[in-house]
Amino acid sequence: MHEMSVVSGILESVIPVARDAGASRVCTVHLRIGDMREVVPEALELAWEVLSEEDPLTLGCTFTVEEVHPRSRCRACGAAFSHDRFHCRCPECGSADTELTAGRELDIISIEVETP
Ligand SMILES: [Zn+2]
Repeated sequence: MHEMSVVSGILESVIPVARDAGASRVCTVHLRIGDMREVVPEALELAWEVLSEEDPLTLGCTFTVEEVHPRSRCRACGAAFSHDRFHCRCPECGSADTELTAGRELDIISIEVETP
């Protein structure tokens, strides 16, 4: 389950930032995750529940996810198009020479903290 490493990476980034900001608690973390990351929401939820308890700063902290659907650009004809995780062939010219422009995001957009 790679969601454990996804969540632990997120928390490892969030905790020092919150601590530096003098936060007593992290309330919510807002995330942006691309479909190509193949993160399973249920598994993410579970991993979050387990790992957020390990630090008093993130205990009881919640998160939101903004999903990003994959988009690509065709190197042959320049068309930009959106697609699902499995089909990234150009719909205009049929070329398979395409470049993913969105869908691999794994970003922390913002965090909400409580200060003493
Ligand atoms: Zn094309």
